[in-house]
Amino acid sequence: MISFTLSEHQRELQQKFRETGELHLRPVAAEIDRAAPGPLDRRFLDILGSEGLISLLVPEEYGGQHVDAITLAVIIEELGWASTDFAAVFQSTFHAVKTILVGGSPEQKKRFLKELLAPSGRVAAFCPTEEQGGSDSSSFRTTARLSGDRYILNGEKTPVINAGSAAFYIVWANMDTDRGRSGINAFVVPGDTPGVTCGPYYDKSGHRGVPIATVTFDNVEVPKENLIGTPGSGYLLLMQAVDSGRAFVGASCVGLARAALEIALEHAKKRTIKSRPIISNQGVSFPLADLLTHLEAARLLVWKACELMNAGLDHSAASSMAKLFASELAVRATSEGMLILGQKSIHRSVLMEKLQRDAQLTRIVEGTSHIQKAVISSQL
Ligand SMILES: Cc1cc2nc3c(=O)[nH]c(=O)nc-3n(C[C@H](O)[C@H](O)[C@H](O)COP(=O)(O)OP(=O)(O)OC[C@H]3O[C@@H](n4cnc5c(N)ncnc54)[C@H](O)[C@@H]3O)c2cc1C
Repeated sequence: MISFTLSEHQRELQQKFRETGELHLRPVAAEIDRAAPGPLDRRFLDILGSEGLISLLVPEEYGGQHVDAITLAVIIEELGWASTDFAAVFQSTFHAVKTILVGGSPEQKKRFLKELLAPSGRVAAFCPTEEQGGSDSSSFRTTARLSGDRYILNGEKTPVINAGSAAFYIVWANMDTDRGRSGINAFVVPGDTPGVTCGPYYDKSGHRGVPIATVTFDNVEVPKENLIGTPGSGYLLLMQAVDSGRAFVGASCVGLARAALEIALEHAKKRTIKSRPIISNQGVSFPLADLLTHLEAARLLVWKACELMNAGLDHSAASSMAKLFASELAVRATSEGMLILGQKSIHRSVLMEKLQRDAQLTRIVEGTSHIQKAVISSQL
């Protein structure tokens, strides 16, 4: 069903997370951005826990308060507005949860999803990417070997969001290189398993508040029961997780672009030159009008992908379109915002400066813009 209005419950959640974003998230996100790279900041974990965010991903039968995809997108837009770093930490956990929800056994759901619901705030990590194979999601060098009643994992995953802070890692590994995609499997590996090490943390241009590092699995043993899904189902599980996840990266980018547009608009109305506000120049107002139009379009693309998700329909291309359009918009909005703010945009203390650093990374994470176009064009 097509609807352009949110339900009362959705509006309440939107308002709740708008306030959380403004009062609690934005102020600490700016501080965390300026800190040295390291593990996940405790203040982000506290907000995750106190706001019950992870429970929104978990079905009621496992102790959560699961919301549908559009409601989740509305919330993530607010988180992205306040801090795309925080939104990325949350989304990475979403990916891990989604993999377990799609392919996990009832026992895995009971154990690992419940673990994330601790009031102190917990996160998980999603680990397909390796150094040599970012855009190629079907050739992993990480291996898994069955030995008795345990799998033994060896390899290196990088980059990994929530590295070192994750309650568990969802790890893709190859069990048989001769079998191509059907040799790939996904495993859940508790963060405290011997042989799991992480570091050093990336010193990044953007997303500086997101802990990202290489995670190494050195003869890591997990029980046979930690295989997610049936043997050989790993590639399909990965595609299902990223197909949904991309729409939510789009939602976060809508929030980021909205933040940039608000700041640029406020400045354009306030700043006067020769007694006229700069917005009275079409050179300033037309790009803002374009951005506002594209912002609406980006949000609708996100909601469309989410509507398909809710209906259990194929949302692969729709999700890629949402991510592609919204992340490119985030880059354009922050670039235009920097121009409109003029020399005031270049200070590290100015939010627009952070937003444009973060926006650049959204075009790469979760599959580059090229890869989104490859997904979309595969359906032409
Ligand atoms: C901030 C951030 C956080 C991340 N977090 C995680 C995480 O938590 N877990 C995880 O597993 N991964 C993570 N990633 C990795 C991310 O998924 C990869 O960076 C992404 O898939 C691209 O891979 P790559 O960087 O190795 O680029 P490459 O695959 O080396 O690509 C290089 C260039 O070639 C282009 N290219 C490659 N193949 C094609 C093609 N077929 N058609 C057209 N162009 C092509 C790409 O678009 C790109 O421009 C993260 C990345 C970033 C930036």
